Amino acid sequence: MMVPKILILGAGYGGLMTMVHLQRELSYNEAEITLVNKHDYHYITTHLHEPAAGTAHHERIKIDIKELIDEKKVNFIEGIVKEIKPDQNLVLLEDGQELSYDYLVIALGSEPETFGIKGLREHALSIRNIDSVRMIKEHIEYMFSKYNNEPDCEECLTFVVGGAGFTGIEFVGELADRIPALCEEFDVDPGKVKIINIEASPSALPGFDQELVRYAIDLLEKKGVTFLVNTAIKECTDQGVILANGDEIKAGTVIWTGGVRGNSLIETSGFETKRGRAKVDDFLRPPGHENIFIIGDCSLIFNEEGRPYPPTAQIATQQGENCGKNLTAQIRGGKLIPFIPHIRGTVASLGRGEAVGVVGKRKLFGFTAYVMKKVIDHRYLYMIGGIPLVLKKGKF
Ligand code: FAD
Ligand code: NAD
Repeated sequence: MMVPKILILGAGYGGLMTMVHLQRELSYNEAEITLVNKHDYHYITTHLHEPAAGTAHHERIKIDIKELIDEKKVNFIEGIVKEIKPDQNLVLLEDGQELSYDYLVIALGSEPETFGIKGLREHALSIRNIDSVRMIKEHIEYMFSKYNNEPDCEECLTFVVGGAGFTGIEFVGELADRIPALCEEFDVDPGKVKIINIEASPSALPGFDQELVRYAIDLLEKKGVTFLVNTAIKECTDQGVILANGDEIKAGTVIWTGGVRGNSLIETSGFETKRGRAKVDDFLRPPGHENIFIIGDCSLIFNEEGRPYPPTAQIATQQGENCGKNLTAQIRGGKLIPFIPHIRGTVASLGRGEAVGVVGKRKLFGFTAYVMKKVIDHRYLYMIGGIPLVLKKGKF
């Protein structure tokens, strides 16, 4: 008897959780499961700001996918998805492989949203994956060494971060922590270094609790970060950034943290999208495709007030679990369960030993919030790899 083929694209938060659920629930003769990912490792996206700033090594946040897979049940392909053909149940990889499926899970994550801002793609760096954060770290170090050779190059020591959402805030917290060590290593006066976080909205972390925002900003300003709020970046050049009011800030480094959109493959595959994210039904399926599930940052889901949920690892993980359960139900002739997100809270790190957050109705500040972030991190490691992974990759 032919068993159904399940193809999962992307081994990030959503794709991995789907895979973990399926390999736990299904026996090897119930489905043929294939997982495709660009690299042979999973990376902890929620910690990318650390290796980007150089406060942690990138190996710390890499997990070998083979360590998480039961190879008797899941076939792993390291490959890059080039095209999805939903009407033919086919996926094409860049190396020419053609993969057919009965059920498809698309969990390919996001891309930076540039809003068409001139020069961003060419001149700004962004925190996307292991390769991009290695480049950011190296670039920062290069700017310090360049300054030593060109002492008039003030812009070498100016670091502009565009967007003070959660990614921007977490990154400037880490970068501020790294600066003293860089100054010592490169023999540079710390007073010459500028970290400028530019935000278009009237406040950093727009929409977040104002008391927590105040705490975060006070702390980061004490660490040496300057915030320019109500200030939109209009253009990025090889010299720095141009603001909406026409002012120019010269900077040797521009990191763009101005938001994300769904992976461009969602749009090019013909799904209905908003900011690159596919509209999905209660079971996370795009309209007209009952054998396809789109999850994580690629999917668009709405809260009770009709506003889109922000794309988060928290939601991607829960969607992966729901998708795993529904695929199991579909194969066994069971009933599908609608996806309902359970938002437990949000915690943002502010560098070493510091964070802010809301968990349930409780506001958390400083070290307490930092410890809570560790608990959340360890819980995720436990869900995908059990205690051995917590012991191997957890930070205590
Ligand atoms: P991802 O986890 O991005 O996984 C996508 C996978 O698809 C990757 O493995 C990628 O390599 C692979 N892929 C992409 N394109 C292809 C292709 N063409 N072919 C093959 N494979 C491909 N959210 C929270 O809830 N809490 C946090 O604390 C938090 N912190 C964050 C900190 C930072 C610095 C950043 C950048 C994000 C943070 N987020 C956080 C958001 C969270 O990381 C994302 O929402 C989450 O990673 C989305 O999961 P996903 O499975 O949709 O995509
Ligand atoms: P975001 O959309 O949350 O924030 C982007 C920020 O950039 C916004 O504040 C926006 O006003 C600003 N911006 C946009 N255009 C601008 C311009 N031209 N000039 C200046 N500022 C501009 O994006 P993000 O911070 O990259 O986060 C992406 C997703 O990941 C979000 O859903 C976020 O919640 C999630 N995330 C969560 C955490 C956490 O929970 N700790 C950490 C990082 C990211």
